[in-house]
Amino acid sequence: MCGIVGYIGHRQAFPILIKGLHRLEYRGYDSAGIAILQDKIKLYKTKGKVSDLEELVKGENLSGNIGIAHTRWATHGEPNNENAHPHLSPSGDLALIHNGIIENYAILKKELLKRGHVFLSDTDSEVLVHLIEDIMINDKVTLVEALQIALGYVIGAYAIIILSRNNPDLLLAAKKGSPLVIGIGKDEFFIASDATPIVEYTKDVVYLKEEEIAILERNKDLKLITVSNQEKRPYIEQLEMSLSELEKEGFPYFMLKEIYEQPRSIRDSMRGRLNAEKGIVSLGGIIDYEKNLVNAKRILIIGCGTSWHAGLVGKYLLEDLARIPVEVEYASEFRYRNPVICEGDVVIAVSQSGETADTSAAIELAKSKGAIILGICNVVGSSITRVTHAGTYTHAGPEIGVASTKAFTAQVTILTLLALRLGYIRGTIQESRYRQLLFELETIPEKVEQTLKTFDIIKNISNIFKDSKNFIYLGRGYNFPVALEGALKLKEISYIHAEGYPAAEMKHGPIALIDEEMPVVVIATNKGTYQKVLSNIAEVKSRKGKIIAIVTEGDVAVKKIADFVIEIPETEEMFVPLIATIPLQLLSYQIAVIRGCNVDQPRNLAKSVTVE
Ligand code: GLU
Repeated sequence: MCGIVGYIGHRQAFPILIKGLHRLEYRGYDSAGIAILQDKIKLYKTKGKVSDLEELVKGENLSGNIGIAHTRWATHGEPNNENAHPHLSPSGDLALIHNGIIENYAILKKELLKRGHVFLSDTDSEVLVHLIEDIMINDKVTLVEALQIALGYVIGAYAIIILSRNNPDLLLAAKKGSPLVIGIGKDEFFIASDATPIVEYTKDVVYLKEEEIAILERNKDLKLITVSNQEKRPYIEQLEMSLSELEKEGFPYFMLKEIYEQPRSIRDSMRGRLNAEKGIVSLGGIIDYEKNLVNAKRILIIGCGTSWHAGLVGKYLLEDLARIPVEVEYASEFRYRNPVICEGDVVIAVSQSGETADTSAAIELAKSKGAIILGICNVVGSSITRVTHAGTYTHAGPEIGVASTKAFTAQVTILTLLALRLGYIRGTIQESRYRQLLFELETIPEKVEQTLKTFDIIKNISNIFKDSKNFIYLGRGYNFPVALEGALKLKEISYIHAEGYPAAEMKHGPIALIDEEMPVVVIATNKGTYQKVLSNIAEVKSRKGKIIAIVTEGDVAVKKIADFVIEIPETEEMFVPLIATIPLQLLSYQIAVIRGCNVDQPRNLAKSVTVE
């Protein structure tokens, strides 16, 4: 999940690379490193963040217009200076940065050790750069040929960039499994794990495809070949993102900015897809497969983490409105069992980054069994969007905070639109009810806006519970996935242990945990099961648990017994997840800030999980 960036051209490489690393730091921040080519390769790397690297190189001469840089999320070898990238070949001629996992590195390393190689790190990545040089010397081949041969031996995933002392006008990049984008400027190339380090210099980009190698030579056109030596024609695309989308715009953290963006991002997810006046819901991206969905015997939603939670809301919506059976699966489980895929099944893969390795592998498996695969992704042009039969973008805009917020509500918005559309065509919703729901859905961005005003109350609650060791989140029906998502958010960024449960499940176990130390967050907006949720709250209270309740404006009964209440605007029960999630995001955010946690870059996590 590391971030990699490279530059070759006429400008100074250092500032471009450092800025690029800052943009990619969401992908990992265990260590950072940079290599710039002068008459020799100048290499600096350190445990810690990009800012630690900047500190380390202060006062050093790092001029040069070709270089590579890396921010790491460790998979093999602890986060220390030695394991930081770039890694050098034995002669010091080659420097390599890598995102991914060389799964057979141990076998390759054993072979190289026998041949006298000495390794300075515990990483799988260092093995690759040794292997390339070994092949170059022993097979007397060029660097490009050696790279092709080496990658032929590799099992696993990689996005790599190689800098060579003997080839001062050349950078090589290759990709399999992990993402890599090349920006094409005038007499210059930018390479990065995603387009964010590139967007301010050029909008012309090429997304490398599986097993492609890019040969980036100064003052020459981009050349693409494959590992098996086929020439490929670069397909140049235009970037749609803008620079301002990547800035914090006055917010202390990206996460807070992204929470506050939700009225806009939900609106953007609906834009051109929902017209309540005319009674129209349309999802253009999947129109060719709409028949498959309408006639689906079963829908399988696959995702990981927050996307899985969005999938669970999707299940409730699709079953409720379109009466199609839906199963929601963790991609990592799905891919390693022997799932039954029948004719008439449609698979929907949900992923913010569109790079989630487990979800990609689950897609491949489902495809090999003949399923139609549709994607719901946020990052335009990402890997998953290229391997699905069709898909819908969430249009939430770049999400930089590692804990997902606006991407979640955007995913839920798309699934809501899909359920409404399918319900309408299948005739499982009455026309008048359908119309009523469309009008209500249009009001959601406004209601989210209003909900954001609860932040002051949430700040008080956060002060009171900042030192809690555990939290329980309860919800029923549509609010059960909300409870799961609330608990996940708190765990992710404040490192407080939290569990989400269906409210009625509490009495089957978790109730044993309740004492005066235990805050219990209850999403108590349900109309159908309101009385039941009230009883669940009473059960917690009689065991001295502290209740923080999310209630509908004007609520009376819950207010009487809860310790703290957060009021949200009234809406249809099925749309509550889009609103009730907001205070839970703010609660996690605020508790994390008070506890001094790095909200945007929580420990051990990374945003785009490209390892399996
Ligand atoms: N496997 C490499 C390492 O541990 C790269 C990790 C990654 O891309 O996530 O250094």
